[in-house]
Amino acid sequence: MDDDPVPSSHRARKRTVNEGVRRLLDTPGWNPYQPRTDSTDDPATGAREALRQVRVERAEDAAKACPECEAARRESGDSTDLCARHLAEAMGL
Ligand SMILES: [Zn+2]
Repeated sequence: MDDDPVPSSHRARKRTVNEGVRRLLDTPGWNPYQPRTDSTDDPATGAREALRQVRVERAEDAAKACPECEAARRESGDSTDLCARHLAEAMGL
């Protein structure tokens, strides 16, 4: 069933853009989201990522008992919202 409200011409244009972006991202040394060196086997990257996850988990844990986080969530209606302090903590700032 195809009841996608987006007109197919619109969708096609979006696909073309996506393909252009993907081609750019495939260009070695261009992709801003990837380090220039192939880092899949880089242990430092894995460690950084693990540290980041620990940091986020720790901030979320602390946030559960934080009245400011609770207030931020109530205010924004976003159940994952954090107060400024814990947001900064989760981002490693
Ligand atoms: Zn908080």
